[in-house]
Amino acid sequence: MKKIILILLSLLVQGCGNEPAVKKNTSAPKKVVEVPSFNSDSAYDFIAKQVAFGPRVPNSKAHQACGEYLINTLNRYCDTVIVQKADLTAFNGNVLKSKNIIASFKPERAKRVMLCAHWDTRPFADQAETNKNTPIEGANDGGSGVAVLLEMARQFSIKKPDVGVDIILFDSEDYGQPDESEYPRMQHSYCLGSQYWAQNLHKPNYFAKYGILLDMVGGKEAVFTQELTSMTFAEKTVKKFGILLLHLVTVDSFCFKNQPCY
Ligand SMILES: [Zn+2]
Repeated sequence: MKKIILILLSLLVQGCGNEPAVKKNTSAPKKVVEVPSFNSDSAYDFIAKQVAFGPRVPNSKAHQACGEYLINTLNRYCDTVIVQKADLTAFNGNVLKSKNIIASFKPERAKRVMLCAHWDTRPFADQAETNKNTPIEGANDGGSGVAVLLEMARQFSIKKPDVGVDIILFDSEDYGQPDESEYPRMQHSYCLGSQYWAQNLHKPNYFAKYGILLDMVGGKEAVFTQELTSMTFAEKTVKKFGILLLHLVTVDSFCFKNQPCY
């Protein structure tokens, strides 16, 4: 995880200038980039804190409590925090009381970078071999991306980034319809929070130069490939930065020290 974060942080520092991330002329003097530090123990603790609430399934007590924790934590580190509330209807008709949490550094800056993850967890483990109806704990799926961004926010509070940064924690992203479902098929049943945000931007005419979405970045020996949707819609950006972490897929489990793996 640490390696990925270092890349991300260095992208933020160098990606926002006009200089390409990798210079073609290798004989030219190398640009020294100051990379903010990233504390992996702190990020790990941010995962553990989320998991301790229990599964963060929309409308649950754990979801409510974790949402407050995330808002309070981001309020401590960031310049502004906007909570975008929405009632979103899931595939089974449940109305999900949802909150997209949007925390910003230098909100006045026109040049902005968007970093996102989702903070809700899936209400059923339908992809698992056993206990398919049990909510997942979401240490990796949901928790890890949020934890990375919380640690980045903590680092940015110590040393402010040169550009505007928006950290968006989407809600109700993983309440999608299972493959086997008694309900009529709903189109786009996943990502309800980000769909809502896309239709109702938190600021009029909001624009970010680019965005990176983190999900499932805490897998053991995770391998990150160039994600297909990013390559389809933003190939240049993916190639320019070398890595754009958009809904990364890992099949590995997540393990806490001295505890069973999830
Ligand atoms: Zn996810």
